[in-house]
Amino acid sequence: MTHPLLDLAPLSAARFASIEDRVARLLGTARDVVIMQGEALLPLEGAIRGTAGPGTTALNVITGPYGQTFGNWLRDCGATVIDLAVPFHTAVTAAQIREAFAEHPSIDFVSLVHAEAATGNTNPVAEIGEVVREHGALFYLDAVASIGAEPVLPDAWGVDLCVIGAQKAMGGPAGVSAVSVSERAWARMAANPGAPRRSYLSLLDWKERWVDGGRKALLHAPAQLEMLALEACVERIEGEGLDTVTARHASAAAATRAGAVALGGGLAPYVEAASDAAPVATTLRVPEGADASAVVAKALAVDPALPLAAGGGALAQSMIRVNHYGPDATRDAVHACLAGLGAALAGSGFPVDPEGARRAAELAWG
Ligand SMILES: *Cc1c(COP(=O)(O)O)cnc(C)c1O
Repeated sequence: MTHPLLDLAPLSAARFASIEDRVARLLGTARDVVIMQGEALLPLEGAIRGTAGPGTTALNVITGPYGQTFGNWLRDCGATVIDLAVPFHTAVTAAQIREAFAEHPSIDFVSLVHAEAATGNTNPVAEIGEVVREHGALFYLDAVASIGAEPVLPDAWGVDLCVIGAQKAMGGPAGVSAVSVSERAWARMAANPGAPRRSYLSLLDWKERWVDGGRKALLHAPAQLEMLALEACVERIEGEGLDTVTARHASAAAATRAGAVALGGGLAPYVEAASDAAPVATTLRVPEGADASAVVAKALAVDPALPLAAGGGALAQSMIRVNHYGPDATRDAVHACLAGLGAALAGSGFPVDPEGARRAAELAWG
């Protein structure tokens, strides 16, 4: 018996290349886009190990948990790392980046996370890109949580290595990812004796054996189901229109923020300035005396489909994440989350106004 997920024709190199081209169009990039056969951590790590080494001075911006990971990889490569950490309830500013360059003129690499789904903030990449360009440093960006939720324009912003995954706002699969690579970044890798070669982490392997060969032969059997899912997901975004998809995420974030404030009971946006809040997900601070994990568990016990989670690690008690991305960037999902949180808080004796929350969310959706 044939099975729709099992008995598939082989995925050709031409089909693979056409999926890369569609992803490149989504990013508005004329540069090489390499689709990596693994979750986004694969190109995130591969791009750092490919371009950083003992001669690198890296400015590593930490606005959430991923920045910490990048710093560890950079140090592991032998790079000199200057960590610039900002409180997770804010965003980094271009002025802070400029100050870091003034203090450490040897910086030749900058790593930044665009939006952080885990902390709910987003950083001004366009302005930061200008500063990075002025100083000629290589610019590495994790756009996994921003792609599909807000504009991501690597070429216009001077991003040399822009990593995306489809599992957040794109509403796609988690098992493949992509990176756009500038000529400068390829040159850095080619000159880096420590860059992975003949390795699953190697971007250079893909450059030499796939890109430079005219994309005729794949390096190994592709993750076929994931590639087909990525193609379907990009096709769906093209059908709806990327601008419509990002607008839906912006509305979901604005509605969740306004609704949570109107709900009351001491619930408050975790990211203090609305301009620093990421469209991909909204983080909330629970009132004094409440436990975020318990509130989320209560809401999920009533409706397990709600896109709610407690904060990770040290934030598990104090932070609620409303993951209104992909198929959940809808009015209905936002209203359901607010209603679920309202009921959970009311059940624990916190005074809430669910009807007010509903009206405020509806108004803010726009
Ligand atoms: C979600 C996310 C990733 C991918 O990590 P997963 O935990 O595997 O989903 C990478 N970077 C950022 C900023 C993310 O938000």
